[in-house]
Amino acid sequence: MQSRAEFAAARRIIVKIGSALLTGGGRGLDRAQIADWVVQIAGLRLRGVEVLLVSSGSVAEGMCRLGWKTRPHALHELQAAASIGQMGLVQTWESLFQRHGLNTAQILLTHDDLSDRQRYLNARSTLLTLLRLGAVPVINENDAVANEEIRFGDNDTLAALVANLIEAELLVILTDQGGLYERDPTLDPGARLVPQASINDPALSAMVGESRSGLGRGGMITKLRAGRLAARSGTATVIASGREPEVLPRLLAGAELGTFLVPDISPLVARKRWLAGQLKVKGRLRLDDGAVRMLQRSGKSLLPIGVAEVEGEFRRGDLVALTDLAGHEVARGLVNYDADETRRIKRQPSSQIEAILGYVDEPELIHRDNLVLV
Ligand code: GLU
Repeated sequence: MQSRAEFAAARRIIVKIGSALLTGGGRGLDRAQIADWVVQIAGLRLRGVEVLLVSSGSVAEGMCRLGWKTRPHALHELQAAASIGQMGLVQTWESLFQRHGLNTAQILLTHDDLSDRQRYLNARSTLLTLLRLGAVPVINENDAVANEEIRFGDNDTLAALVANLIEAELLVILTDQGGLYERDPTLDPGARLVPQASINDPALSAMVGESRSGLGRGGMITKLRAGRLAARSGTATVIASGREPEVLPRLLAGAELGTFLVPDISPLVARKRWLAGQLKVKGRLRLDDGAVRMLQRSGKSLLPIGVAEVEGEFRRGDLVALTDLAGHEVARGLVNYDADETRRIKRQPSSQIEAILGYVDEPELIHRDNLVLV
């Protein structure tokens, strides 16, 4: 998305909401405000927009429930507070979305879940399935178990990685500020809002300082970093005030709210570029002539029926080379089944996968989004 006018066409967006906003600056979950966002999101869903929520606030809400006035330093106390607060968080989202007949789904992630290739694919399939089922995933870091090594650290980063995971077109970071300012507005009330900037604009780094609310973990630096991360999958980022009335539908109608960080590529181009740059080919699939033609001419997914031979030992999620019968490489892609499973389902119609393996992960062996022609 290179201009705000294109937001109207967004079909999959991530909305990240920070702790300070959710808890009215730490006073406990602001149910009225949350209900308002729920109405906005339900409206978007009705228009066919898939929305994933990344909701902070577990520690802040936990602290309220425990009557703690200051954020604890001991990790186990933070984790305990997060576990208590997470209950309130999901309870609130769940009950408010139910009024609109929408299911919510709790997803708690650690860094390991997205860095391990298989868990990454599993998380991806689960989220895509939830969206297909019309549910609103409510995502947070799994604070109860995440230690320093496996933390995302802040939910801005988590939201950006989720955007990468499912190729969201737009990441909306709702915060208690109007967006990104040229200078820190708390120090300089005359500082101007940046309405739009290319994500690679070096001037941006100079603009953000170490702002921190004390409730959540992100500041403008982490939001900018999240914008850069999101742009790796071609996702556009908007940082805007969550208190702005009707902020989400207005943004999606192209309204000039907050700061729009423009990525330099589209999600599909980004994914294919990433795939093309992967070096470790773990196996080879020899395809029959029909399958080769299908890939080259119509850009469709690869189905097991088109595979004549399977070489190598690979796992679900690994990169494999696709060759014609003579062994010339025609494409590469991330495979949905292990090598021994692929050997069993090759030359078979997808409808037989379940009968042969006893389960079905995906009907295609390699989805077209995970496939690049060479
Ligand atoms: N996961 C933390 C929470 O729910 C928030 C992290 C953040 O503020 O970015 O409290």
